[in-house]
Amino acid sequence: MSDYQKITVLVNQILKKYDLCNNCLGRLFSKQLHLSSNKLLGKKLQKNLNSIPKCYICKNLFDNLSYFLKLMLDSSLDNSFSTFSVGAIIKPSIIDRDDYIRSKYKLRGIDSVKTDMTRELGKLFSKKTKKNVDFLDPDITFTVNLKDESCQLRSKSITLSGRYIKTLRNISQKQKSCTNCSGKGCRICNFHGISEFDSVEGMISQFLFEKLGGTTTKFTWIGGEDKSSLVLGTGRPFFVKIQNPLKRNLKLKSVTFDFLKITNLKIVNESPKKPLKFKSSIEMKISTESEIDKKNLKKLKDLKTNPIIVYEKSGKRSEKSIFSVKYSKKSQNKFILHIKTEGGLPVKRFVAGDDVYPGISQILNTSCQCQEFDFLDIEV
Ligand SMILES: [Zn+2]
Ligand SMILES: [Zn+2]
Repeated sequence: MSDYQKITVLVNQILKKYDLCNNCLGRLFSKQLHLSSNKLLGKKLQKNLNSIPKCYICKNLFDNLSYFLKLMLDSSLDNSFSTFSVGAIIKPSIIDRDDYIRSKYKLRGIDSVKTDMTRELGKLFSKKTKKNVDFLDPDITFTVNLKDESCQLRSKSITLSGRYIKTLRNISQKQKSCTNCSGKGCRICNFHGISEFDSVEGMISQFLFEKLGGTTTKFTWIGGEDKSSLVLGTGRPFFVKIQNPLKRNLKLKSVTFDFLKITNLKIVNESPKKPLKFKSSIEMKISTESEIDKKNLKKLKDLKTNPIIVYEKSGKRSEKSIFSVKYSKKSQNKFILHIKTEGGLPVKRFVAGDDVYPGISQILNTSCQCQEFDFLDIEV
């Protein structure tokens, strides 16, 4: 007996007791016969071609494919993407009956109803939209809920890198989280996790939400500054990950708001896993308790000799090298210090000498305060 004849015997046994749709019947034997279409095989094996019985396993779920396809098309109308994948939520009773038939007739190594269903939906959606199925790393993922006849869509996050230049004081780098959800995203904040957009983070986020859609943004900053600091030169680099974006590309490379310029915008694979090394050129306005003289200020040149030791409250110790030092006296108690240093030096603590050795106060032997500091440039 050929494989096909053996199968026909078994098919007759099964169909005597259970009505099955073409998809389910074909699915039970297609792997064994190395055939790709369950439906066509089912049609061939089915004895009664005229009336389609109510399927014992799936209750004719496959008759509804076009309805679920429409759900998928509707939910992805606003998304731009080139690849997708489909998942499904199916009633447990269907899976139970499928398992029962498989074990009763000792059918091994066949696809589940769910696999068949998602594959069929994938094929139909691909044919309709000319987009490709990609199960490993799709741009968007559908979850078709066959229980309550709904469709959920998630899109893969995208990450951008860029730089920002800030030319006005009193703008924070970071945005406070939405008070209602602490940043997780809720109806009040439109699932953005932030409800105001008056910081560098807020303004960049708002711009990206407008251009690309998306729910939340997650920033990786290359260093930070005070609210009162300017960021000049080529600006401070940042990475931002956008969750669930609608669009996946951005033509604009730069954009200018009143006092915030975003430049070098581009899509990258991911945010850096390890902190990036960078150098900052910083200008500090420093006031001193006692009067300063030129001879005293000259000692600042020694800052280049040894790295500055920085202690955190946690006890963590780090070293920051200073590469260049310039200063100019403005009055008896004020001077401007201009340094180029390894990124991450806590500027105010460095001036005051607060757990930073040597601090400016120790070098000049008088209590010093940093009134204001600006970033003239940041190099990565
Ligand atoms: Zn069926
Ligand atoms: Zn919220």
